[in-house]
Amino acid sequence: VDTLQIKWSKAPCRFCGTGCGVMVGVKEGRVIATHGDMKADVNRGLNCIKGYFLSKIMYGSDRLTQPLLRKKNGVYAKDGEFTPVSWAEAFDTMAAKAKETLKAKGPTALGMFGSGQWTIFEGYAATKLMRAGFRSNNLDPNARHCMASAAYAFMRTFGMDEPMGCYDDFEHADAFVLWGSNMAEMHPILWTRVTDRRLGQPHVKVAVLSTFTHRSSDLADIPIVFKPGTDLAILNYIANHIISTGRVNKDFVEKHTTFVKGATDIGYGLRPDDPREVKARKAADPAATTPSDFEAYAAFVKDYTLEKVSALTGVEPGFLQQLAELYADPKRKVVSFWTMGFNQHVRGVWANQLVYNLHLLTGKISEPGNSPFSLTGQPSACGTAREVGTFAHRLPADMTVTNPEHRKHTEEIWRVPNGIIPEKPGYHAVEQDRMLKDGKLNFYWIQVNNNLQAAPNSSNETYPGYRNPENFVVVSDAYPTVTAMAADLILPAAMWVEKEGAYGNAERRTHVWHQLVNAPGEARSDLWQLMEFSKRFTTDEVWPAEILDANPNYRGKTLFDVLYRNGNVDKFALSEISPDYENQESKDFGFYVHKGLFEEYATFGRGHGHDLGPYELYHEVRGLRWPVVDGKETLWRYREGLDPYVQPGKGVEFYGNKDGKARIIAVPYEPPAESPDAEYDLWLVTGRVLEHWHSGSMTMRVPELYKAFPGARCFMHPEDARKRGLNQGAEITVISRRGEMRTRVETRGRNRMPPGVVFVPWFDASQLINKTTLDATDPISKQTDFKKCAVKIVPV
Ligand code: SF4
Repeated sequence: VDTLQIKWSKAPCRFCGTGCGVMVGVKEGRVIATHGDMKADVNRGLNCIKGYFLSKIMYGSDRLTQPLLRKKNGVYAKDGEFTPVSWAEAFDTMAAKAKETLKAKGPTALGMFGSGQWTIFEGYAATKLMRAGFRSNNLDPNARHCMASAAYAFMRTFGMDEPMGCYDDFEHADAFVLWGSNMAEMHPILWTRVTDRRLGQPHVKVAVLSTFTHRSSDLADIPIVFKPGTDLAILNYIANHIISTGRVNKDFVEKHTTFVKGATDIGYGLRPDDPREVKARKAADPAATTPSDFEAYAAFVKDYTLEKVSALTGVEPGFLQQLAELYADPKRKVVSFWTMGFNQHVRGVWANQLVYNLHLLTGKISEPGNSPFSLTGQPSACGTAREVGTFAHRLPADMTVTNPEHRKHTEEIWRVPNGIIPEKPGYHAVEQDRMLKDGKLNFYWIQVNNNLQAAPNSSNETYPGYRNPENFVVVSDAYPTVTAMAADLILPAAMWVEKEGAYGNAERRTHVWHQLVNAPGEARSDLWQLMEFSKRFTTDEVWPAEILDANPNYRGKTLFDVLYRNGNVDKFALSEISPDYENQESKDFGFYVHKGLFEEYATFGRGHGHDLGPYELYHEVRGLRWPVVDGKETLWRYREGLDPYVQPGKGVEFYGNKDGKARIIAVPYEPPAESPDAEYDLWLVTGRVLEHWHSGSMTMRVPELYKAFPGARCFMHPEDARKRGLNQGAEITVISRRGEMRTRVETRGRNRMPPGVVFVPWFDASQLINKTTLDATDPISKQTDFKKCAVKIVPV
């Protein structure tokens, strides 16, 4: 507390996966200021423009403070008006609808869409409620749209999720290669570390690959603009270059890798009857899973010659050679970064795996300065979506619902009967929207995301499901987003430091914070909502008779009793909470909820390479990178001397795979699901901008950020504009085969588009670009491809 009577406490930033530390100033029950935390290793006192205005995100004039139910003549009606109701009425209505659905159609008609912006506790409580409580795996996070491809690729190559390196790599690398990542705008604080290294060390090189020129390109020694979707060919060319110039690290490859063919996962994740999907699936090659070897792999990539790849990608041969040399040069340490350019890709898993190939062929991995590093979009995409297991197929600590041993282990830790967790993966994000539309998912709860603005092909595939009269849709949010306004019931949510929380950032860092202020009105945290709602169901109502007959001691208990008063979660008393801070949920439930959930969750990872430290420790430090063994974090995994899990004498051990080896996979370049043609003659790429966080529901309510970038624009090449008779700022309609939206032309500024490609950001709720995007997904990860579809542009 300083002389102005401001109490300062630490927290991670609410926005991106960088995970910057901030100091939060509270006076008279209100957050009045934030500044970068000097003690935080991640950002060393800096914040980006979003971080600087964190103090204002909670105080928008239209903050939701009371549950709102659609009512007509005093009762719930799908076409009713939003009417303030009590929490009791909100939960009673919700519970009645959920029970109706369970009775009529069973657990598979129940679904939940969560978020990489959930706190770890919220995601963990949700996965318990859905999988063990309601016995439905129809739980997926919006991280599905964000980095599911990275998660799948880590599992396929290394048998364990998440990067082996950490941000300390910045200060050790000799080269940075950005694959489809505009760090200067999307991870600006990390970009300051790249810039510092590049400008301070003249030998350091930066390569930036993208489908258009952006702010990150300004620092690039090797700026590469390639044709959308052709990055896979570039990756295979580099592998060919490494092999053909004799720069394979043979010792590393021999000891630590195996080769596999992987091109069986054909398709575009479109609806099964879509002609493009039918055609692609017919082309599947079942023989392609045959295990391979180095010679077969070398022969496979040999086809990706400099001339051929240059012609396919539109990239000058000189740039391709310079890029390949960064990886091939044995003296140069390389960090590869990627985000949505790789992940939002119908071959996103392959793209991820192909970059691992380059690091594995050269042995440039798992040591300071040598890292393949996937950056995450959301603050807890790693901590909550991946580690906790909120994906439709996952359980905590990289386990899956399809594995009987994993289900059994989870049921034991959760203290629920064996056989409770269903084995079939639930509907993923895009599939959930289709199932809502088709009337197969009838009770749906959305927390901490704005899916109607974020989901692809939203007019055709998302909105109809929300308004389907067969469905009851609940949205928990802090503000009346477009998604909330399409719901039947809106629950007002507490946000950020209005609750105790924990996030896990892109470098495996778990960071915990205290509740610093109270939420306005009746707004309550998502965690409180999940736990309170669970009190309205008894096991007899939701669990099958045969399970209860075999486990009679569970009869007649509420889901709250079974899941959260289970001897683990309710183990820690209120007295353990720091007297300096509020903790609303714990006070309501009578025990230290967060510590209980954390410690139960931590049981999954301890001793299995995912170790978390004791909960109290996290209140003292600015996060710790797992595995945390004997109170010590791990900066680089899989390398002897750096990672406590590597056996002495092994040197490098990829212990996620039983044989301790990583997989080098042979997969080809394939064209995207949709490409421009004579009518729809432009590529559309969507994404974010520096000033706004995702759908803008928070940052558009901060006056300074709103003024800095008040509305979306269509960035296009001046010649493309001229050909259509359009001047800078002209009003246009962007039209695809699926829908259209109005915006204005931008031929100047931060993004310089090549001819034939346009970029529209998606933060602006008044200009919903996702009415036009294609709902194609990677067939392995089910992650949506927001970077490649065909549109035309006409003047208004
Ligand atoms: Fe750091 Fe990201 Fe927050 Fe900016 S938005 S301050 S880069 S965590």
